[in-house]
Amino acid sequence: MTFDRTKLPDPATYFDGEGLTLKGRGEWRTTACTFHDGSDSMRINVRNGAWVCMACGAKGGDVLAYHMEAHGLEFVDTAKALGAWVDDGKPHREQKPAPLPPRAALQVIGFEATLAAVAAANVAHGRALTEPDRFRLLTAAARINRLVEAYA
Ligand SMILES: [Zn+2]
Repeated sequence: MTFDRTKLPDPATYFDGEGLTLKGRGEWRTTACTFHDGSDSMRINVRNGAWVCMACGAKGGDVLAYHMEAHGLEFVDTAKALGAWVDDGKPHREQKPAPLPPRAALQVIGFEATLAAVAAANVAHGRALTEPDRFRLLTAAARINRLVEAYA
């Protein structure tokens, strides 16, 4: 799901739907400011939805910003309310924070791989792994798997 600006309602239609009467002609229209209850101090651009109150200074760049401010909503909820939150065909995925920068992750994997190779060589030469060695190898595998999950 993503925000699609082109799906935002036409400014004149939107502000009319908010119960505001737009007066005047041309790109900038005059209407009431609901933020400070002014009767005719709000200027609204019917082309791009920008708005500014000449009295209280409330302002924003589009109908989305207006809707957020007027209804106290967060961005995504506002985009949904205005029909501009659309399915972009991608499955919704939470962004997982990477535990390490990629270069550091590769260094960890390289180190753990070397450690595993040394342990394998010791076993090949008939030296049994101690309990701490075995535990350390499991830790190595866990570290690598955690990085695989994080970057997969
Ligand atoms: Zn105002």
